[in-house]
Amino acid sequence: MSDAGPIAERKMQFLYALRSKGVTDSRVLSAMEAIDRGPFIRGYFADRAYEDMPLPIACGQTISQPSVVGLMTQALKVSARDKVLEVGTGSGYQAAILSLLARRIYTVDRHKRLVSEANKIFRTLDLNNITAFTADGSFGLPDQAPFDRILVTAAAEDPPGPLLAQLKIGGIMVVPVGQSDAVQSLIRVTRTHRGFDYDELRPVRFVPLVEGLGRDTV
Ligand code: SAH
Repeated sequence: MSDAGPIAERKMQFLYALRSKGVTDSRVLSAMEAIDRGPFIRGYFADRAYEDMPLPIACGQTISQPSVVGLMTQALKVSARDKVLEVGTGSGYQAAILSLLARRIYTVDRHKRLVSEANKIFRTLDLNNITAFTADGSFGLPDQAPFDRILVTAAAEDPPGPLLAQLKIGGIMVVPVGQSDAVQSLIRVTRTHRGFDYDELRPVRFVPLVEGLGRDTV
């Protein structure tokens, strides 16, 4: 018997969960409908891909909860002309969603293995506007700066200075801020002619932004 029925049903429930948790932007919802979360999760947890929960991925990291991905993407107010930097490639799921909404995506992770696995999925899905690097994202990506949008998917104690410096005037950065394992807040920073405006959006829980490259890279 085909399992297409149950999968289609699980995908409908997935989209329903996004809407009921406040993801209402129709462009974000369409991108999340188009990008299947399944290929980004391997092994033991693969059959839980359509549940609205964070799940473990390689290198002791996590793929974020889909509704949080949706709310962060929505908060970033991405437009089709934007050049976006994501810090924390992880599984590549968030970058894949951004790639449908923006012109160019740069994404970096400190774990080489995660970057190479994500790159394979991007190629399979023909997401050709994403460039993924192994790098310490707390320094941003000076060669490609400035960015219209920056999304940080690991928690920093404060919005990192180099990332603020690499944001265009009028640009937006969304970043979870707070100590690891404590309550963190999702912050939206908007760069204006006069400086930076800060909005506190909601409590979140992310793995910490860690300095230096991951050990699997040596
Ligand atoms: N956006 C991802 C989830 C990210 S989990 C997804 O869609 O699946 C957070 C990621 O941030 C982890 O993969 C971790 O390795 C990475 N990370 C932590 N500190 C970092 C740093 N300084 N530079 C780059 N990546 C970092």
